[in-house]
Amino acid sequence: MLAYRFRIYPSKTQQETMLQHMELCRWLYNQLLKAKRENPNLRKYDTQRLIVELKKENPKLNSVYSKVLQMVNHQLWSNLTALKELKKKGHKVGKLRYKTSPNSWKILNYNQSGFKLDEKRKRLHLSKIGEIPIKLHRRIKGKVKGVIIKRTRSGKWYAIFQVEEEPEPLPKTGRAVGIDLGVKHFAVDSDGNAFENPLFLEKSLERIKKLQRQLSKKQKGSKNWEKARVKLAKAYEKLYNQRRDFLHKLALYYVRNYDIIVLEDLGAKNIVENNSSRSFRRRFLDSALKEFVKILSDKAGRAGRRVVFIKSAYTSRTCSRCGFVVEKLKLSDRVFACPKCGVELDRDLNASFNILKKGLDEGLGRPGLPVEGRPLPRVVPYQAVVTGQVFPMKQEAPKRVG
Ligand SMILES: [Zn+2]
Repeated sequence: MLAYRFRIYPSKTQQETMLQHMELCRWLYNQLLKAKRENPNLRKYDTQRLIVELKKENPKLNSVYSKVLQMVNHQLWSNLTALKELKKKGHKVGKLRYKTSPNSWKILNYNQSGFKLDEKRKRLHLSKIGEIPIKLHRRIKGKVKGVIIKRTRSGKWYAIFQVEEEPEPLPKTGRAVGIDLGVKHFAVDSDGNAFENPLFLEKSLERIKKLQRQLSKKQKGSKNWEKARVKLAKAYEKLYNQRRDFLHKLALYYVRNYDIIVLEDLGAKNIVENNSSRSFRRRFLDSALKEFVKILSDKAGRAGRRVVFIKSAYTSRTCSRCGFVVEKLKLSDRVFACPKCGVELDRDLNASFNILKKGLDEGLGRPGLPVEGRPLPRVVPYQAVVTGQVFPMKQEAPKRVG
């Protein structure tokens, strides 16, 4: 499922109505959760039927489109399932919490029905809300399954279209690549390309730090505090937009150029190697890597490319030429030097060779694969490593949100 995000411009009245609807959704969510807590035997359709009863108790609920209310029930149950999954995996989890604070319900989910997009007039029609101007900056390809209306913390409104994507296979290239993802370089691949974290991210991160400091100096709830809060929220939104853009372009580069893309399974890998500080910067970069994997997988699936995930084990410490495993490699060691065969390589490049090799061994050893494998790339001497190659940013990728 692809998501297309468009800015919408509701009138003041419409904004108020939608905010009221969100509050009613929050109330409903809490009521359903309460009922489930009181009677654990309740099933999804039981709480679904409860909505009818609650409408009698609180007739205001009738002002909200019925499917939007149903989706509140749906959300409750997917939260319950997610919690159960965590418990199964051995995580310590408490009970599902009530949404006690106002404005803690932030979406209106029009699933399957209740919405209509007029592309010519650039209007989105929502049942029980009305017609809202929409900025359609690109064409939606595929079948629209639903629309989620969202208000950001800075007060902007968006319509997020859930679209069932149609496959668009790309011509085969006969090439495979291994990518080492990390926090230091964003990606280093087995063809010797390194993609750094783009500079604008650092700039935006700096600005956010500054705005956070400013906000902390203001008196909470005051006019100046509110101004500073909106400023900060806008900076966050900008940062996430920039990141999304960068990740989509990078993913597009790999999907266009390679039939097989091998990555380490990030779930298993601790990217935050001996990192005690959980700074925003660090968490941001970590989540960027995870988002990249998701975007890449989505794009690859749609283009008929194959993404192979390998278990990360000694990919940094193994010599990609002779297979020797070194005892220790500090994060500060940027060069992999093999005591056995004498090869010297950029450490991430060495890792990317190992990743590719493992992916080809594990993923391509099986019959019936879409493309032929290729011999392992020649080991490039350290001096020849191209780092910091400028990413072809001009290559316009369609903007997508994952
Ligand atoms: Zn070696």
